[in-house]
Amino acid sequence: MLQDQDRIFTNLYGMHDRSLKGAKARGHWDGTAKILQNGRDWIVDQMKASGLRGRGGAGFPTGLKWSFMPKESDGRPAYLVVNADESEPGTCKDREIMRHDPHTLVEGCLIASFAMQAHACYIYIRGEYIREKEALQAAIDEAYDAGLIGKNACKSGYDFDLYLHHGAGAYICGEETALLESLEGKKGMPRMKPPFPAGAGLYGCPTTVNNVESIAVVPTILRRGPEWFASFGRPNNSGTKIFAVSGHVNNPCVVEDAMSISFEELIEKHCGGIRGGWSNLKAVIPGGSSVPCVRGENMKDAVMDFDALREVGSSLGTAAVIVMDQSTDIIKAIWRLSKFYKHESCGQCTPCREGTGWMMRVMDRLVKGEAEIEEIDMLFDVTKQVEGHTICALGDAAAWPIQGLIRNFRDEIEDRIKAQKTGKVSAVAAE
Ligand code: SF4
Repeated sequence: MLQDQDRIFTNLYGMHDRSLKGAKARGHWDGTAKILQNGRDWIVDQMKASGLRGRGGAGFPTGLKWSFMPKESDGRPAYLVVNADESEPGTCKDREIMRHDPHTLVEGCLIASFAMQAHACYIYIRGEYIREKEALQAAIDEAYDAGLIGKNACKSGYDFDLYLHHGAGAYICGEETALLESLEGKKGMPRMKPPFPAGAGLYGCPTTVNNVESIAVVPTILRRGPEWFASFGRPNNSGTKIFAVSGHVNNPCVVEDAMSISFEELIEKHCGGIRGGWSNLKAVIPGGSSVPCVRGENMKDAVMDFDALREVGSSLGTAAVIVMDQSTDIIKAIWRLSKFYKHESCGQCTPCREGTGWMMRVMDRLVKGEAEIEEIDMLFDVTKQVEGHTICALGDAAAWPIQGLIRNFRDEIEDRIKAQKTGKVSAVAAE
């Protein structure tokens, strides 16, 4: 288990002072100017060496992403945009950073922006995060007043402005190009890629979009060294990570631990075990609602990192772990996710606009068992026609939970259909 002295987020639970004074007492903003003096190439190289992979879900190497930004400006400004639109069901890690440890993010924004020669950074925060916005804005104001950001930030000679932009509550604005559209004042609809944001992002200028946690860990990595960060977790999956565990565990929690911790250790050490014991575990969604569920027996020994969870047919995603015990109607649980994605589709491309509604309506009937057995394969086939055929990943996000359900709990779906036909169970209403 991760030792306290190796935690990056020392105020995740809001027990200490979150103001600048408190943050400095915990080691933040220590030697920031010196870090900047090392130059942008040094910072990017250190981030590459740390092995940090993006914490927003896709797991793309952060240092590599930064290196895609133009080395020399062609006259256009560059931007860093921080994606704080945390809206994936089950995911609630970035909000703890923003409301309790906001200076980690503010300092990270300065350093990351400097590394990409961005003189302005925008944080796009989820519409529902009111208190988080207040805490973050207070931290930004404090940093301006102390000369840490603004003109001649930290007396480094670098000018840097940081803006906090409040979204209006649409899930799709967490998709990076929809986020940029929204930030520009347009409807939050994803853009076709290419061009990628590093070539033409915000206002058509080179832009990098990073998750809150990815940016907030940067200052500590640079202070303590990439080897320190890379010493946690397995190769290619390094670092510490914030896990958000919800559902049928005794103590749901948000906790920072080492990457590649086993699922069993995570649940036993931090969450007080599974409700009713391990034999009562039915299924786990290990990385936020869009990743496929895994059967409980396959999850117990699973390792919580990007590569290992792929081996059990799922993904680490945002590390939002949703635990379901035997009391769960798994078909209804996945139906609820289908309803969510149908509601949040922006409607721009046909497979997603039509497919999410189509899949949800079949799921409606599967919940009640009012379907034919052959429709299970038909539904699976439709998920495959949606997956990978849309402008953004929402189509995949709608398809994967259903694929996970069919792969892992086909017997349950069939039993319900058979029982419905023989009148053995009362139908479970999808409401
Ligand atoms: Fe919009 Fe869905 Fe297409 Fe994404 S996949 S652009 S959410 S319609």
